Amino acid sequence: MFDVVIVGARCAGAGLALLLARRGMRVALLDRDEFPSDTLSGHYLHQSAVARLAGWGLRAGLDQLGCPALPSMLLDLDGVELAGSALPVNGEHLAYCPRRYAFDAWLLEEARAAGAEIHTGVRVDGLLYEDERVAGVAARSRAGTRMEWPARLVVGADGMQSTVARLAGARMADLRPSYACAYYAYWEGLDLGRAELYLRGDGVRRFAVAVPTNDGATTVCVAWPAEEHERLRGDLDGAYHAALRALPLGDKLDGARRLDRLQGCIKNPNFVRQSAGPGWALVGDAGYHKDPITAQGMADALRDAELLADAIALADGSALDPASSTYEAARNRMLGPLFDYTCALAQLRSPPPEMRALAQAMQHQPQALARFFGIMAGSFELPAFFDPAHVAAIMDGSLETAGAP
Ligand SMILES: Cc1cc2nc3c(=O)[nH]c(=O)nc-3n(C[C@H](O)[C@H](O)[C@H](O)COP(=O)(O)OP(=O)(O)OC[C@H]3O[C@@H](n4cnc5c(N)ncnc54)[C@H](O)[C@@H]3O)c2cc1C
Repeated sequence: MFDVVIVGARCAGAGLALLLARRGMRVALLDRDEFPSDTLSGHYLHQSAVARLAGWGLRAGLDQLGCPALPSMLLDLDGVELAGSALPVNGEHLAYCPRRYAFDAWLLEEARAAGAEIHTGVRVDGLLYEDERVAGVAARSRAGTRMEWPARLVVGADGMQSTVARLAGARMADLRPSYACAYYAYWEGLDLGRAELYLRGDGVRRFAVAVPTNDGATTVCVAWPAEEHERLRGDLDGAYHAALRALPLGDKLDGARRLDRLQGCIKNPNFVRQSAGPGWALVGDAGYHKDPITAQGMADALRDAELLADAIALADGSALDPASSTYEAARNRMLGPLFDYTCALAQLRSPPPEMRALAQAMQHQPQALARFFGIMAGSFELPAFFDPAHVAAIMDGSLETAGAP
C-alpha cells in the first residue's frame, strides 16, 4: 500500500512526488510517457517558479539545464514597446525557458533521488475503490500487462485531459471558452537575449512570443483566435510565417532558420475543476487549465504541488481527504485575478484606451515596468497594480520620482 500514487510525472506530478518522498511518504509516480521526452508545451519559467524551485533546494540544478538565464523582456502592445525587468521574487530576478525534455527529466530524477518509486510506460485506465472511496489505480504497461497500485490517496497530475478527473467524476467548477489556438517551432540563428512578446489587437488579433531556450535555439510561438483555426489550418505554416513577418520580430528572423515542424494546440480551454474528493485530488493542468498566453502553467503546477504536499504533511489519521480539501480551497484562493487576466488577454483584443495610455506612460518608468512585469513574474499583485491610486501615480510620474521598488 502506497501513501500516495501520482498519475503524471511532469511538473505537477514530479514536484509533488519529490516533496512527499522527502517527508518520508511512500510514493509511486506513474506516467505513460518515457523520459526524457518533450511534451506539447512552451516552457517559460517565471521568477515565481524559479523561486519555488530554489526553495526546494534545486536552484543550482536549474542553472545547469543548459538554457540561458533571461534577465529582461520586451512586450510590444499594439506598437507600444515596453522593455524592462520584473521585480524579483524572493531575490530571484531571472527567468528561464528550459526545454521540457530537460526540465521534466531533471525533476523526475530529483523525485527518484528523494525516494519516489517511478514507473514509466504505464497508462492508468482505472481507479480502485474501497467503501466508495478511491483506493488506488489500475494501469496497463506497453506490453499489455495489467497492474494495480493501492494507495491512501490518488493524485491526478495527468494534464488537462486528466483520466483521473474523468474516472473520479470531477465536475467543472468554472468553464470558459477556448479563446485562442497556438503553434510554435524552434529556430536557430536568432539572438534575442530576452523574451519578446508582441500583441496585435483589434483588426489583426495575433500574439507572438519568442524566447531563447536550450541548444542555442529560440522557441517562437504564434497565437490567433480559435475561430480562425478552421480557415487557416489548410496552410498553418503560411499563417505562422505571415503573422511573424507582419511584426517587428519578422525582421529579426531574417537570417535565422526554422528547425522543425509546427506543433500546437487547436484548443486551449480555460477551466477550474473540482480538485478533491474521497481518496483523490488533482494538481496542475488536471485541476486548473488556462490559455498559455501568460505562461503560468508550469509555475502553477509547481505551486499546486507544494500546496498539496503541505496540506498532506499537516493531515493526521489514515484518510487524506481533509488534506485534499484544504489544498483545493487554498489553490482556489490564488486563482481569481490572474485567471481573469489570462482569459482577457487570450481574446487577443486591443487594450482599452486607458490601458494604452498607461502603457505609454510606463514606457520610460523602469519602476512601474518592474511592477507591471511583476504581475506575471509573481512579484506584484494584479489588483494592487490596477488600483486607481497606483495607476494615478504612474500616470503623473510620482511613482518613479518616489523611487518605488
Ligand atoms: C502551446 C503551449 C505553450 C505553453 N507555454 C507555456 C510556457 O511558456 N510556460 C508555462 O509555464 N506553461 C506553458 N504551457 C502550459 C504548460 O505546458 C502546462 O501548464 C504544464 O505542462 C502543466 O504541467 P502538468 O504536470 O500539470 O501536466 P503535463 O505537463 O500535461 O503532464 C501530464 C503528464 O501526465 C501523463 N498522463 C496523462 N494521462 C495519463 C494516464 N492515463 N496514465 C499515465 N500517465 C498519464 C502524460 O503522459 C504527461 O506526462 C503551454 C502550453 C501549451 C499548450
